[in-house]
Amino acid sequence: MKEMFSQDKEPPLEQELSSTELILETATTAGKLFKDSEIVLSDFNIINPETAKFRLNHFPKASDLQWNNWKWQIQNSYTSFDELSEILDISNIADDVDFISTSNKLPLRITPYYASLFDGKPTNYPLIKSVVPSKLEFVTSEGEEEDPLHEEDMCPSESLVHRYPDRVLMLSTGFCSVYCRYCTRSRMATKDQKSYGLKVWKKSIEYIRNNPTIRDIVISGGDPLTMSDKQIDYLLSELRSIPHLEIIRLGTKVPVVLPQRITNNLVNIIKKYHPVFMSVHITHPDEFTPEVKEAFNRIANAGIVMGSQTVLLKGINDDVSIMKSLMHKALLNRVKPYYIYQCDPIPGSSHFRTPVSKGLEIIQGLRGHTSGYAIPHFVIDAPGGGGKIPLLPEYYQGREGNYVIMKNFEGKTYKYYDPV
Ligand code: SF4
Repeated sequence: MKEMFSQDKEPPLEQELSSTELILETATTAGKLFKDSEIVLSDFNIINPETAKFRLNHFPKASDLQWNNWKWQIQNSYTSFDELSEILDISNIADDVDFISTSNKLPLRITPYYASLFDGKPTNYPLIKSVVPSKLEFVTSEGEEEDPLHEEDMCPSESLVHRYPDRVLMLSTGFCSVYCRYCTRSRMATKDQKSYGLKVWKKSIEYIRNNPTIRDIVISGGDPLTMSDKQIDYLLSELRSIPHLEIIRLGTKVPVVLPQRITNNLVNIIKKYHPVFMSVHITHPDEFTPEVKEAFNRIANAGIVMGSQTVLLKGINDDVSIMKSLMHKALLNRVKPYYIYQCDPIPGSSHFRTPVSKGLEIIQGLRGHTSGYAIPHFVIDAPGGGGKIPLLPEYYQGREGNYVIMKNFEGKTYKYYDPV
């Protein structure tokens, strides 16, 4: 099988990359995204037994080398209900399976690896619900908007959001390896997907270069780790050459839906540009397979500091014990629990949204009941562009004269002497 693959060689660091090498792929929902010659030997080599069984049943011709290659995973992803019907009883999900392909909704895309985690599970299995389209996406409720955070009002260039004085968000690509049905930026990944070319990137980089107050960037998308090594290397090197830009952060779900992408090549590229942080989108404890653990291990060993981001989702992770297990697994894999988000009000997302009290209940169920390191912030990204607002259960109860009145994790009241 080996002769089918060429070695995945990185360009030397000092090598000038031509613009043509950096033209970003325009994502499509079907069709080939990579040439066969680009699907090369990978240094990722873990396949858990359950996933191996799934591969044998559904991709019997795929070799270990192919399965472990991230581009093969993207190339062979499930992108239609027809394909999904081979592994799921979709009659339980939709009567009219064409509805999603004829709509302008978020496309369907699931890697074979992530789909292997659905094997033998009912259709209400949390991981299935988070990425398989549902007709409920056509029910628009009060308060829902295409761009609930009003990011497009804060864009000095097409791919840059400048909301906070010292930080920017760069939307590097419109493509993701798996489309989460509750995605805040689903507007960017509809069938008329935007592609972000080098010109757009350059404008954003120039804007940051000319604004010395910007000291922190989040590179998101889409998912930046779906870009090629060359593109990531180019972008990080351009950003790192800006003297006042101190912190670079990558926002990604790739380590849990496409762990094969976390090659040694990739982490070696990223670690050249430290300090680089990674905000990893995790949803459910079942995502922590041996493959994902290996991906996190590689990232952490490269000195990349990871924080978790989790969207609170009805019927998926809206339960104290599930969240506790998720946060514990994150911590065990050197991912610091960072944020639990209230699900943003994008059109057709009400079936995912929990009452705000649920997030507070979860924080209450964690604080005092597990290590402080395992406790994330519960935040609402304020509609209209107000930024992230943290919400806490009522630990602070007010004042009585020279005392502050507080409630602890058991609900017991305490006084703290604090003269005014
Ligand atoms: S990975 Fe992130 S950007 Fe992509 S669909 Fe999921 S939430 Fe949206």
